[in-house]
Amino acid sequence: MSTDHDAAGLKASILVEALPYIRRFAGKIVVVKYGGNALAGTSDHDALSLFAEDIVLMRLVGMRPVVVHGGGPQISDLMKRLGKETEFVDGLRVTDAETVDIARMVLKGQVNPQIVAAINVHGHYAVGVSGVDGGLIRATARDERLGFVGDVTEINPEVIHGLLDDEFIPVIATIGSDINGQAYNINADTVAGAIAESLGAEKLVYLTDIEGLRRDVADAASLIRQTTADELDQLIADGIIAGGMIPKVTSCIHAVRNGVGNAHILDGRIAHVLLLEIFTDSGIGTMIKGLHGTTGLQGDDA
Ligand code: ADP
Ligand code: MG
Repeated sequence: MSTDHDAAGLKASILVEALPYIRRFAGKIVVVKYGGNALAGTSDHDALSLFAEDIVLMRLVGMRPVVVHGGGPQISDLMKRLGKETEFVDGLRVTDAETVDIARMVLKGQVNPQIVAAINVHGHYAVGVSGVDGGLIRATARDERLGFVGDVTEINPEVIHGLLDDEFIPVIATIGSDINGQAYNINADTVAGAIAESLGAEKLVYLTDIEGLRRDVADAASLIRQTTADELDQLIADGIIAGGMIPKVTSCIHAVRNGVGNAHILDGRIAHVLLLEIFTDSGIGTMIKGLHGTTGLQGDDA
């Protein structure tokens, strides 16, 4: 009996702990980048359903979540199944016309509807768009030799504002197009940052496959819990940030310097990590403090 009572008390206290956060984040936009690696690890779809629950809960308590996703592992997978060899120039992967077609098919035809469907198990919330829709992501070739891999030149967020105003959860596949309508595959980390900036998001969150930023990649005990854009500039210069972390950290730095509240790098393998970060007092993962971001409830006069 007493354990039932304790359990009920614990549940109630968790909800009460969430109250000030619910109040603080009401109406606020949170851009969440869901990594292709996180998705690749969900053959049983469990992690994806947990993620979908978090996103729906955020929306139901009045936040305005926006999901941006990648799909690198899934693209490589289909390329392999089609027997298509990847070409490299100076060690960099070339995205030829056929490859960008495959990327578009996988992102908009497979990964995007998978996420949309997982969210919509809970109601009619999510709408999938790609960066081509409404001219959302304007891109240009990064390097002619690399083919159709693009850099973002402009974000036109009208279509996202429209969806948010209609209370939908936008789910964005990171294919962009140039002024001639040519499609480009664009790094999803970069797109998430650019979209967060264009929306003036309260938070930019990266869900990845490691617990956060490490001061030493090989040492799990070296997690950086809180940092600033200036400190991250130094970590990049020191070569501490490598590989897939580079576009995330670069985007976090740019975003917090351009109006985004705070940025976070979280472990997408932890069940309900988004809820833990947003609605509880326990700091989790790495937080990059912005100029306008709020770090605790102290001084909360809302
Ligand atoms: P995602 O699918 O989330 O984009 P990536 O593999 O592209 O995943 O990026 C995450 C990886 O970045 C980590 O698994 C880790 O191997 C690597 N990494 C490089 N430098 C760091 C660092 N300083 N701290 C943490 N991870 C790092
Ligand atoms: Mg990556």
